Amino acid sequence: MLKDIIFDEFQNTVSELLICNRSILDIMAKVQETNAKLHKSIIKSVTRCGCIQIDASKSTIPSEATLADLMHLLDSHVKGHLCDSCRDSIENSLGKMFLYTAAICNLLDLNVYDILLKEQKQMKILGLYNLA
Ligand SMILES: [Zn+2]
Repeated sequence: MLKDIIFDEFQNTVSELLICNRSILDIMAKVQETNAKLHKSIIKSVTRCGCIQIDASKSTIPSEATLADLMHLLDSHVKGHLCDSCRDSIENSLGKMFLYTAAICNLLDLNVYDILLKEQKQMKILGLYNLA
């Protein structure tokens, strides 16, 4: 399957090119740093650019609602659409998160694709209860 090759190539590229941050401690710090940058990029989309808005309030959920109903009742609280600049910034942050996640996998001899398959299998088994 092509997708497993892409994940393996990505993980191999990370292994070959990530020279400066070889310590698991450095990589763990980078994961946290990139996570913060992702959140900062999303916040800037709201507060500086304005292409998206966050409109949140308490959700009212009927007592008889099922888990399946929640998908239609709960709101993302995101209004609007990312402009090209904000989309690029957020994609860059997510790319760095994938990079450092792959780096942790490399240092711990884990395979990114195997982890994704395992998680997908778990989600399918648990269905809606997985993310509740
Ligand atoms: Zn924007």
